[in-house]
Amino acid sequence: MKSNKKDIRALTKEQLRDFFVAQGDKAFRGNQVYEWLWGKGAHSFEGMTNLSKQTRDQLEANFVINHIKVDQMQRSSDGTIKNAVRLHDGLIVESVLIPTAKRTTACVSSQVGCSLDCKFCATSRLKRMRNLNADEIYDQVIAIDNESRLYHNHPLSNIVFMGMGEPLMNYKNVIKSIDMITSEEGLGMSPKRITVSTSGVPKIIKKMADDEVKFHLAVSLHSAIDEVRTQIMPFNETFPLKDLKEALEYWYQKTERRITYEYVVWDGINDAKKDIDALVRFCSYVPCKVNLIEYNPIDDGEFQQASSQAIDNYINALERKKIVVNVRRSRGKDIDAACGQLANKS
Ligand code: SAH
Repeated sequence: MKSNKKDIRALTKEQLRDFFVAQGDKAFRGNQVYEWLWGKGAHSFEGMTNLSKQTRDQLEANFVINHIKVDQMQRSSDGTIKNAVRLHDGLIVESVLIPTAKRTTACVSSQVGCSLDCKFCATSRLKRMRNLNADEIYDQVIAIDNESRLYHNHPLSNIVFMGMGEPLMNYKNVIKSIDMITSEEGLGMSPKRITVSTSGVPKIIKKMADDEVKFHLAVSLHSAIDEVRTQIMPFNETFPLKDLKEALEYWYQKTERRITYEYVVWDGINDAKKDIDALVRFCSYVPCKVNLIEYNPIDDGEFQQASSQAIDNYINALERKKIVVNVRRSRGKDIDAACGQLANKS
């Protein structure tokens, strides 16, 4: 039988306080429960030991605590860990821990599947089933933080929203999860260590600027020519580059924070001089840096990583214009944990 009880972690602290007031109790009780849920990561009402039996029963009667469960953990030869995470309704998402010499980064999912249709991304083959709730995103981070402490002897240092899904199409819950990650009751992490990556939803980029968010923004660009971008990211048809440009200019005006462009160079798709010129021009609009990402093949060979000569041509052209460019090698390929490979294979 499906229960009508509410997911208690969908409530804000104020709503929890209101609940107790409505029950004739003190608002303060809400703070106590909130601390149990987020600060202490309680998995049951039973374990909330500073509450009376009556209060615990009252919670039990009205709410559930939905926790994720790491169903399967795979470790790559390079130290990367991929978690298959089971949600309360049985659906699965994946998240990844990426260790480097200086940091450990959690790559988390924001949706089950994805509604975008990027031709080079394995996740696009999964239909979008639903958005993740804030607590489901937060729990992925906690699971990876625990693994980081266990296997690398230090806490998680950075978070990227580059797992499954398009974070800006689940904006409300993504923001709520970041609020918890950065708040003292949660992980107390600095927002400067968090990056949200998007294919570029102009309206939401502007909203983020208005909301004065403090995390970093990365845009999966892959081409600065509309015809090419639409071919590989059909979503570009609805949100063409001129709208993206305008939104990014607005973002920079308000936040003064530079944008990262993620860019894969493919053989015969975006490796010509016209492609390079277009990117250099796009980079002149707002202060930015470019991450050239290694392509992670997902199957049929329609897309092939471009030659190292083509990559060098990009680097030279960007550096000539004093644009910062990094080449990002991929990690965790042997366990299908690299960018664009998350597809619930197992
Ligand atoms: N929807 C968001 C976040 C998920 S994708 C976004 O588009 O940014 C995370 C990053 O992986 C994006 O930059 C995406 O373009 C890139 N990516 C997707 N498939 C890839 C692949 N097969 N190889 C390399 N990078 C890929």
